Amino acid sequence: MNGTIAALLRDFAAIQKSKQSMWGYKRAAAAILALEEPIESLVQPDGTLRKIPNIGPSSSRVILEVLQTGTSPTVERAIAESGQSTDIERRRDLRGHFLSRSQVLAAFRNRQLVGPRLDDYNGDLQMHSTWSDGSQSLEDIVLAGIERGYQFCGVTDHSYGLPIAGGVSMEELEQQHREIDALNRKYRRKFRLIKGIEANIRADGSVDMQPDELARLELVVAAPHSALRVATDQTTRMVTAVQTKGVHILGHPRGRMYGSRPGVTADWNQVFAAATKANVAIEIDGDPSRQDIDYDLAKRAVDAGCLFALDSDAHSTGELRYAETAIAHARLAGVPTERVVNCWPTERLLEWLRSRSG
Ligand SMILES: [Zn+2]
Repeated sequence: MNGTIAALLRDFAAIQKSKQSMWGYKRAAAAILALEEPIESLVQPDGTLRKIPNIGPSSSRVILEVLQTGTSPTVERAIAESGQSTDIERRRDLRGHFLSRSQVLAAFRNRQLVGPRLDDYNGDLQMHSTWSDGSQSLEDIVLAGIERGYQFCGVTDHSYGLPIAGGVSMEELEQQHREIDALNRKYRRKFRLIKGIEANIRADGSVDMQPDELARLELVVAAPHSALRVATDQTTRMVTAVQTKGVHILGHPRGRMYGSRPGVTADWNQVFAAATKANVAIEIDGDPSRQDIDYDLAKRAVDAGCLFALDSDAHSTGELRYAETAIAHARLAGVPTERVVNCWPTERLLEWLRSRSG
């Protein structure tokens, strides 16, 4: 229900004429998706809604309509009158298999699911620091990681091929590695920072760094950030990426975006088979607007024998909990814990990383 209501609020946002009300409904949708409990439990005995931050009176009206009738006549009427029904339909198709926070927590409580539990999770392998477009320093990551009970984190700032995301130059990477070495000495036996990068997969499947540059890193997440709206089949592109020496993880494989972008079209069975053969992990990116790949597609990666990386893609320490969204998808897909590289002990993880490095 939280997901249904958030989707309707996003539809309502999309047809607003004023920017202010568009943002108002978008904020309300985000607040519903972030709720820890089902929205039904916030209805008071007198039928009104308990106060929720960022939910104004007109959003509350939509919510109560949906709770009472299963839909919102207010939103549906406004869509019909806006003349944007086709665009709204297209957006609705792009919200499949996204989990609300309340569904994430339900997946942890569900004992019938066999996948990894929070306790099994030893560290996060995709995140961004102040060295690219993140707001967390390297030491912030160590401290927040320790607080979450992790033993390691991979720092994967954007590569220089992505200047729009503040990609790091090779010189900057060298400085960053010195800082990581110092932190690893300081927190020895408590925590291990892993020298990583998030490289971009170009349209032809090549990665935007030279082989000798990839070899200087302990962890390479290769992910598509461009050519994401092409409708043609991208199987060869994705297979080429996973076969690239030095690549460890295929990051947010589809490049989809909640309600706005379907991402890459490919024969995923073929991509997953190639990843298994290359010993490359398929990522479940837990950023709420990505959730990429989702539990439905992940079931096929399970059948193909893939390894998995469950990552937050955090840009701040507060976003590290996005890893929980990824773990929930893995549980819903029945990913065996043994196949989740984040659940391995540090030494075993490092060994796997070395085995694929140049
Ligand atoms: Zn990315």
